[in-house]
Amino acid sequence: MASSTRPDWRGSLVESYPDLFGPVGDPPAAAGWPCCGDGWRDVLERACVRIRAAVEADGGTVRIVSVQEKYGTLRIDWRGAPSPDVAARLEEAVDLAEARSATTCDVCGAFGVLRGGGWLATRCAAHAEGRPAIEFEEGFENLQVERRLVGGRWRSRFRFYDRSDDRFVELGRPRRRPSE
Ligand SMILES: [Zn+2]
Repeated sequence: MASSTRPDWRGSLVESYPDLFGPVGDPPAAAGWPCCGDGWRDVLERACVRIRAAVEADGGTVRIVSVQEKYGTLRIDWRGAPSPDVAARLEEAVDLAEARSATTCDVCGAFGVLRGGGWLATRCAAHAEGRPAIEFEEGFENLQVERRLVGGRWRSRFRFYDRSDDRFVELGRPRRRPSE
């Protein structure tokens, strides 16, 4: 469990990615300082690997300006002026992190589900604290629907998050049984 003598993983992470969070030596109150539970450490580390890989190709002009829990899932905001290709890779990394956080207990990092009961949180059964799981239609728990304006027209994109592979599975349209 957490020990007061162990350096916080947030500081280690921020220092490991000065290219993303700003130079080492910035105050810990830097805008991108992770504000989320310990259970999402792995989610955030995966995101940083992806974001760095995307940004490196672009000269490192992107900064992570906010990492926080919102409505029970992890939100990562960045600022910069990357090329459209890099921006797309960044958004993919951010979306993957959000999708993974929605299946990861923010206390312990085990598999979790979104729970209500006062406020939204993603928790495993052991850390549910009696709070009920949000009910989704069966098979649609991990569905992400994105609507984007492309060339003046709205386009919808349907995809499921595959936790075991940590990737999205694209669908032309929602299906009741994505595993078939
Ligand atoms: Zn847990």
